[in-house]
Amino acid sequence: MFKALLIDKDAAGYRAGIAELEDDRLPEGDVTVRVAYSTLNYKDGLAITGKGPVVRSFPMVPGIDLAGTVEASSHPGFKAGDAVLLNGWGVGEVHWGGLAQRARLKGDWLVPLPAAFTPAQAMAIGTAGYTAMLCVLALEKHGVTPDQGEILVTGAAGGVGSVAVAVLAKLGYRVVASTGRVEEGDYLKELGAVEVIDRATLSAPGKPLARERWAGAVDTVGSHTLANVCASTRYRGVVTACGLAQGMDLPASVAPFILRGVTLAGIDSVYCPVPERLAAWQRLGRDLEVTKLARMTCEIGLSEAVAKAGELIAGRVRGRVVVDVNR
Ligand code: NDP
Repeated sequence: MFKALLIDKDAAGYRAGIAELEDDRLPEGDVTVRVAYSTLNYKDGLAITGKGPVVRSFPMVPGIDLAGTVEASSHPGFKAGDAVLLNGWGVGEVHWGGLAQRARLKGDWLVPLPAAFTPAQAMAIGTAGYTAMLCVLALEKHGVTPDQGEILVTGAAGGVGSVAVAVLAKLGYRVVASTGRVEEGDYLKELGAVEVIDRATLSAPGKPLARERWAGAVDTVGSHTLANVCASTRYRGVVTACGLAQGMDLPASVAPFILRGVTLAGIDSVYCPVPERLAAWQRLGRDLEVTKLARMTCEIGLSEAVAKAGELIAGRVRGRVVVDVNR
């Protein structure tokens, strides 16, 4: 038997709660993992609350991330006792996920736990932090360097935003943090932001072009915010788009792209190829200070995950949430 968070949907409605399950209910897979920690990302919040169409089959164990130890494996890359990590691949959406004491998965989806992190630290980073690093790598790939000017991070007090601020600051960029929670200004400055701006300055419909300010941006918000970020990005600047916290729409014009040569780089963590994942995790080991990681993280037990998911979707959670699935 193992404990799991289980989501179901039927005539009685959409519901999520803790269940005790028999091992034979685990899905197909060539690796069985004893899970130590999982996390709550925005997508997990949508899945658990039912506020977004994340779960594609029911019943579903949510949790797009997990860290733990291999219990049994017929995959050539992993053996019993290996410490592993998983992010994405549709886990927690179409395949039972990490918010459980046990998971059965495809070995091709797993990566070895990076030596730099404990399982709990790896989950404090989670998909949110690994996505933040994919954004940083995309800025670098497109030639954005610290001497070129300010980098904007939107949704800065959230999970992706907090890690992006900390990593970019460590790399020497001048980071401007946009947040709806001005009371988190000191927190964002501790992570390394040089300036904190009110997200209201970016969230309303704007002009096709605005005063050039950003050399680069990490946008977790989408909608009018992303349109305004593109409109205020400097000549040949780079905007990485990974999120939709304000909305999935993009009410923008082509002006920033055809008149200023701005690059809009899309970031997907779910099906990102393995070599890029490994590179992102390796860079997190080098460029994310664990003291800052601790500052942005809170830990809860599995039984608290449903309530916390509601708070996360309401925008009331700061930074990252680690879930100890064994309490
Ligand atoms: P969080 O909930 O931790 O952070 C989201 C932040 O967005 C909030 O903290 C808030 O920041 C801001 N926000 C919330 N509502 C609004 C709003 N209506 N208008 C403007 N800003 C808002 O989520 P994550 O950091 O885990 O994820 C951020 C986004 O990135 C999500 O949309 C998520 O789906 C996406 N994502 C995408 C991935 C990919 O592979 N492309 C992977 C991981 C995440 P503040 O209070 O500072 O304003």
